[in-house]
Amino acid sequence: MKAIVLFSGGLDSILAARLLQSQGVEVVGLNMITPFHDCSKEAEERAKEIGIELVVRSFGEDYMKMVAHPQWGYGSNVNPCLDCRTAMCREAKKLMDEIGADFVATGEIAGQRPNSQKIHQLALVARESGLGGKLLRPLSAKTLSRTDMEIEGTLDREQMKAFTGRSRVQLISYGRKAFGLKTIPQPSTGCVLCENSYAPRIRDLLRHKDVPTIWDAKALAPGRRLRIDENAYCIVARRKADCDVLDELFASPKRSRCALLYPDNYMGASAMLVTDEAPEFGDENPVLSDKMNEYVQTAGSLALRFSNPEKFRDVPGGPVCRLYVGAKETRVAVRENPEVENIRIIMEKLGEPKKKEADASEAPAPQDAPSKAPAAEE
Ligand code: SF4
Repeated sequence: MKAIVLFSGGLDSILAARLLQSQGVEVVGLNMITPFHDCSKEAEERAKEIGIELVVRSFGEDYMKMVAHPQWGYGSNVNPCLDCRTAMCREAKKLMDEIGADFVATGEIAGQRPNSQKIHQLALVARESGLGGKLLRPLSAKTLSRTDMEIEGTLDREQMKAFTGRSRVQLISYGRKAFGLKTIPQPSTGCVLCENSYAPRIRDLLRHKDVPTIWDAKALAPGRRLRIDENAYCIVARRKADCDVLDELFASPKRSRCALLYPDNYMGASAMLVTDEAPEFGDENPVLSDKMNEYVQTAGSLALRFSNPEKFRDVPGGPVCRLYVGAKETRVAVRENPEVENIRIIMEKLGEPKKKEADASEAPAPQDAPSKAPAAEE
């Protein structure tokens, strides 16, 4: 028999794969990259260690529609885990059909995550993904309804497990005893949709765009994010790495309409202005509306607000930025404006260490309640 296992490289997915291997099942891992979470590197390493083939796939723009309008709502942050799990299982079903596998398995454990792994939610994902009785959770199988494979007798239910709840202690002990696991993967840092520090940015994005794109998701990460008004926001770089991300975002043909400002005759912060007023990508003769000129001035003032005044106040003729709009580079004088002090930074503390971490699970693990106590370690 052949099974697709949703595989993050976390402890649960490793154990699910090993348990099936021990029953003579050929395992193919599937790792799904989302716009908010990529654990493919770890998954590749772990897959090699346990000797399984790994297929890595990425979600497309449809994933963003799901994040914006989840059928089953969000967890404790902006994490639509039930919809996301369903989408992953659908992808696993596609792969199952493509390569002629017999069923799909995940490392989910009943009750491990309070907002997406209750028994009825596991059943819901099985139903909504179209897998039904072809979806096995080997680590909790004995606590769940029988799958087709158990009913047909192609898998021995007695060999399956009955783990429940959030503790990792028994899982670690099982992994060591049954499979001689020497290295126990650390709990996953998870996807940013679960992070308290990230949520304000995502909420702001969803409030202002009905269906954001993957580009919009990537633009959530760098720098300080400041909402100018309902139709425009500005990202001001904090460091060189932010500038690199802004360059990359600006170079993407899939970008939302935006403009870039770089200090030209002084040392300071660069900024990206994102607004539908901006000319389209590749426009060689962009004409800026009055509103766009106003936004550019505001973005320039914001860039100065986060620059060292000593570096620009004495510049002869005043500070000037290179302005990239459409496919054109121009220069624009920028000025300090005390009114921009009132523009709120949507989230100041991006990247600060999370207070709590949730367990790794199968490809990427749902983490509905990062604010709750982490699962116990050994
Ligand atoms: S935590 Fe996992 S299941 Fe939940 S939204 Fe993120 S990737 Fe999807």
